[in-house]
Amino acid sequence: MSQDKSRPKDSWQEIVWDEHNYNERTVLKSGSFLGCYCPHCSRSLMKDNLLHLVTIDPDGNTGWMQLNPYLNAFERKSNLQLTEGEEVTDLRCWHCQASLRAGERKCDRGDSHVACVLVGISTVRVPFYFCMRTGCHWHLIDPDDEHKIILDDSMEW
Ligand SMILES: [Zn+2]
Ligand SMILES: [Zn+2]
Repeated sequence: MSQDKSRPKDSWQEIVWDEHNYNERTVLKSGSFLGCYCPHCSRSLMKDNLLHLVTIDPDGNTGWMQLNPYLNAFERKSNLQLTEGEEVTDLRCWHCQASLRAGERKCDRGDSHVACVLVGISTVRVPFYFCMRTGCHWHLIDPDDEHKIILDDSMEW
């Protein structure tokens, strides 16, 4: 049973945001809250302030996984015995049960499948990809989409 307590050094803040220093007003604060939504039914995937996902483990057991949706923390909890380094079979919306697997896209740190949810930081919702392999912290918002969020934020002042 692996309790992933450590904060990964390569937080998504570093991976996703650091390459694009548009200027000082674009900075998303570490710890910014991300609302997460199903790309199929648009309902919120949050439960107890965590991203809650129906999870099918490699043996076909159905359970759940919860991810911390804060920018600087990406810890997983699950009621399944997930093995570090193993890919889950599927992640699904707990409202409509649709699979959140993102077709062809693969993790940049291997060939694992990735799942996709929509995240909203203000009024814009953009795809957020994350790896389905337990223990892998790879995740991504496309730079174009990141820019949308930033533009939307900048409209508000
Ligand atoms: Zn749904
Ligand atoms: Zn991965």
